[in-house]
Amino acid sequence: MTGEEMHALVERLYPLCRSITGDGVRRTLEIVGERLPLDVHEVPTGTQVLDWTVPKEWNIRDAYVKDPSGARVVDFRRSNLHVVGYSVPVSATMTLDELRPHLHTLPDQPDLVPYRTSYYAETWGFCLSRQVLDGLGAGPYEVVIDSTLADGHLTYAEHVVRGRTDEEVLISCHVCHPSLANDNLAGIAVATALAARLESRRESTRLTYRFLFAPGTIGAITWLARNRERTGRIVAGLTLACAGDPGALTYKRSRRGDARIDRVMAHVLADRPHTIVDFSPYGYDERQFCSPGFDLPVGSLTRTPYAGYPEYHTSGDDPGFVTPQALAGTLEALWEAVTVLERDGRYQNLSPYGEPQLGRRGLYGSLGGRSDTEQAQLAMLWVLNQSDGDHSLLDVAERSGLPFGAVAEAAAALEGAGLLKRVGSVDEPAGR
Ligand code: ZN
Repeated sequence: MTGEEMHALVERLYPLCRSITGDGVRRTLEIVGERLPLDVHEVPTGTQVLDWTVPKEWNIRDAYVKDPSGARVVDFRRSNLHVVGYSVPVSATMTLDELRPHLHTLPDQPDLVPYRTSYYAETWGFCLSRQVLDGLGAGPYEVVIDSTLADGHLTYAEHVVRGRTDEEVLISCHVCHPSLANDNLAGIAVATALAARLESRRESTRLTYRFLFAPGTIGAITWLARNRERTGRIVAGLTLACAGDPGALTYKRSRRGDARIDRVMAHVLADRPHTIVDFSPYGYDERQFCSPGFDLPVGSLTRTPYAGYPEYHTSGDDPGFVTPQALAGTLEALWEAVTVLERDGRYQNLSPYGEPQLGRRGLYGSLGGRSDTEQAQLAMLWVLNQSDGDHSLLDVAERSGLPFGAVAEAAAALEGAGLLKRVGSVDEPAGR
């Protein structure tokens, strides 16, 4: 998928009213499913998941505040952000003063509508711009929220790209935000594109890639509760969010701080504008994956991070805030990370006494005339020198300052010439 195609997916998903449960999530997964076959899981309300319980399912058909002339001054049909997520049904006539405690605005951003939810306390409310609120008269207003909060299901989906080994890479994104483009839909689009690209490879991958599309917090907790035994196979993972704004890429390390994914992302981002931050138990579902009982090697990739931009959780986070170039840039960084995860390994130099004569084996000649000859030769010397069975290709890339791709190509050429032997993968066992 190109940046434009990912952006088109963001635009198509944008109008749906998603929440942590309900038909908006199902419809979102159906649309993703057109690109990528998904295993959709439905978990009944009341199911105990770790320390939590799957909540009632929420669905909404319409909601509005009508002024005395009959005009909808706040209208769910114009934007689903106008209703507080998980609002219980309401049908009442109220003055503005009575309504006011249920109205949410952003005083500092008077032209934007905030995004608010109340999942675990039964209440209701509307969100509107400060400008609209300031223009409202005393009323009375007809106030309607046509929603249901009833026993149902929590919905999440997985797509697995089977590799030659059971060692898994987990890519997770949240699917619970309504009309918010960067915080939610950009991650979904990039995850979909990455999975589709992995599927289109002619050769199977070495690692297995598990893509998880789940509502934030409760969805990740539900998945963890149902896949506890599987978490031991996870050798690397990323939560993917805010993947399409024009800001530079940001990587947040796993709780471990020195997991392989932490080193891989640092290496991949080194030649791009980027920021790397340490783990904190705040943000997306890395909070769950990195809870101490699991302590999985899962970091978080965003562009501008969680809560780090003025459009965050407002109507300003619309498809215009997300660019095809940024989506494509996030995908390319992920693809490079996949390449490192796939190709990294430990090698043994089979001719370790003195340097082997490369020219005699055609390893200099084959590179003649290439502008990157010097780098390729340097990479061969580094790989030969460091391949004692303990150091991985990523170790070599880090120590030499050479790009991983050049190091991996050198290793392939040396292996082809019989000078090098792969002795093992570098994947660390995860979990506890
Ligand atoms: Zn959010």
